[in-house]
Amino acid sequence: MRPVFRDASPRGGDYEEYRESFPDLVGRIGSYCSYCERRIATNLAVEHIQPKSLPAYAHLAGRWDNFLLGCVNCNSTKKDKDVVLANVLLPDRDNTAAAFDYTEDGRISVRIGLPAATREMAAATLALVGLDRRASAVMDNNGRLVALDRVAQRMEVWLTAQSSRDDLLANPTEAFRRQVARTARECGFFSIWMAVFADDIAVRRLLIAEFRGTAADCFDAATSLPISPRPPNGLANGGKV
Ligand SMILES: [Zn+2]
Repeated sequence: MRPVFRDASPRGGDYEEYRESFPDLVGRIGSYCSYCERRIATNLAVEHIQPKSLPAYAHLAGRWDNFLLGCVNCNSTKKDKDVVLANVLLPDRDNTAAAFDYTEDGRISVRIGLPAATREMAAATLALVGLDRRASAVMDNNGRLVALDRVAQRMEVWLTAQSSRDDLLANPTEAFRRQVARTARECGFFSIWMAVFADDIAVRRLLIAEFRGTAADCFDAATSLPISPRPPNGLANGGKV
């Protein structure tokens, strides 16, 4: 899950109408679902980390620090579940790049080796938005797999990233590396590209720079590996991983 940095409120305080924050959020962290990492051109929505519909969080309805961007799938799974910041890992306050592993079968799993308490938080995050679900295979009339759900889409992007890697191996130039990063930016699924290019520090650095709003301080400048715990950024309950 891509760690993001949305910086201070462009309004200098709360929004009266939360929907007005949408263009500001896209400008700061890109047109991606903050949870499943899909690039969404339309139907991406302002997502309240702590749901505005719960009385305890009604005062956060216009709070910039409570906003992320969510797709319909993640939003509809998350609904108005109570989110206790101390119990989940969040891409704006934790280094979520250090908590999950992405594999070519489309699965997202909690990274082995994390302390038990952190593993629990990571699992709770996946369950919160349904990223722990298995794929539902759908075939079209010609018997081809249709990437309808998020798992199938991750498998598809994994193949795209792998093809890009093969092409880069055949044509290892700086210009082609930059092209790979631009392709990734258009495809979305930051973490999948980071996983496929695990052994290519130069591409990983370009990915961090190319995906708008990626928290660069979450990655070691020399190795491009995640720095955990995340350096403090002033948000409550941050740096749990
Ligand atoms: Zn999503």
